[in-house]
Amino acid sequence: MQKRVLIVGAGLAGSVLARALADAGVASLVIDRREHVAGMCYSSRDPETGVDVHRFGPHTFHTSNERVWQFVQRFDTWYSCVARAMCTNARGVFCLPINLHTINQLFGKRFTPAEARAHIESLQDKSITTPANAEEQLLRFVGREIYETFFRDYTIKQWGVSPRELSADIVKRIPVRFNYDNNYFFDKYQGYPMHGYTALVQSMLNHPLIEVKLNSPYERAMNTEFAHVFYSGPLDAYFDYAEGELGYRTVDFRYERGVGDLQGCSWLNYTDMSVPFTRAHEHKYFSPWEQHDKSVLLYEYSREAGRGDDAFYPKRMPADLQKLAAYLPLMEAEQGVSFIGRLGCYRYLDMHLVVDASLRYADAWLAHRADAGVLLPKCATPAL
Ligand code: UDP
Repeated sequence: MQKRVLIVGAGLAGSVLARALADAGVASLVIDRREHVAGMCYSSRDPETGVDVHRFGPHTFHTSNERVWQFVQRFDTWYSCVARAMCTNARGVFCLPINLHTINQLFGKRFTPAEARAHIESLQDKSITTPANAEEQLLRFVGREIYETFFRDYTIKQWGVSPRELSADIVKRIPVRFNYDNNYFFDKYQGYPMHGYTALVQSMLNHPLIEVKLNSPYERAMNTEFAHVFYSGPLDAYFDYAEGELGYRTVDFRYERGVGDLQGCSWLNYTDMSVPFTRAHEHKYFSPWEQHDKSVLLYEYSREAGRGDDAFYPKRMPADLQKLAAYLPLMEAEQGVSFIGRLGCYRYLDMHLVVDASLRYADAWLAHRADAGVLLPKCATPAL
């Protein structure tokens, strides 16, 4: 009998992979050290308010990838809606991402799109030709006033270091729009699974060829029993931290409950230092098809992750990337093991990218499984 595949982690990366393999007739064992499936997408009802809470922070699914969208459609009914964010600071309350409304409000103007573009251009620091860090990136593209109002303090709170020490890439994904479009994402499809992310993942894993074992820590000694191992845990932990610990930020949540609307929108960033938290989310807005009299608001406090903490954001500071480079030969040498997901790749990945990568891994495995000692592509490379 063909050996099963071992998938370490019942989060989105592992669950999509298990299902794609099962659909093609490949059996797998999915193990997770947690007591629940869905990893960091995990959501559950708050007993006091009845609201479905995204326990590890808000997750809005968005993608322009047809295959990814079709895949996730199979496991729940999706509610299409657009993610919108607000922010607050000493200058006022603004909508994000920065758009014509934000610009006009900040400068007390009634600019047309062309006038706003010209104004932002006049603010750009053109002495910076090749931005070497996040601060230079923002000074180059939006100038000092917008940088200080919306980005500097939030970034310090979020990452625990000056934007001068962070890669320009971290802020490159933030758009500035010269129209009144305040849709946070650019993608063609956006929405929420109507029974919650936990049910979505449970439905993916509900297949006779998939066995799920929760409360089950992984050990490398297990590898020999399986045809291949897909590992979605932390890369450094896999190698017993042989090349040092990779830096992560974790998030602590403070819950506030009440009646009616507490915040008035799903997502509010606090972009100055007057409060220690970065943002707050009112979770009933993530289920707009439901009616709730009560509400729950989660404040996010970002801090450095220790070994026992949930790793949210890979920091990818220069020292981390050096360690990552040192782990790469170890990964390459690890026969029959692939590293998947945000932790396995040590890379910030939105959900749709995780789904896409897992579908591709399944394709690669299915194309090569007849080969002995199959070597699937390793996920993390220095270029990532
Ligand atoms: N950011 C900021 N101010 C904001 C929103 C974002 O300075 O109001 C910066 C911050 O450095 C953050 C990055 O932009 O880490 C990416 O923001 P995004 O909202 O994409 O972060 P995520 O939702 O992934 O935490």
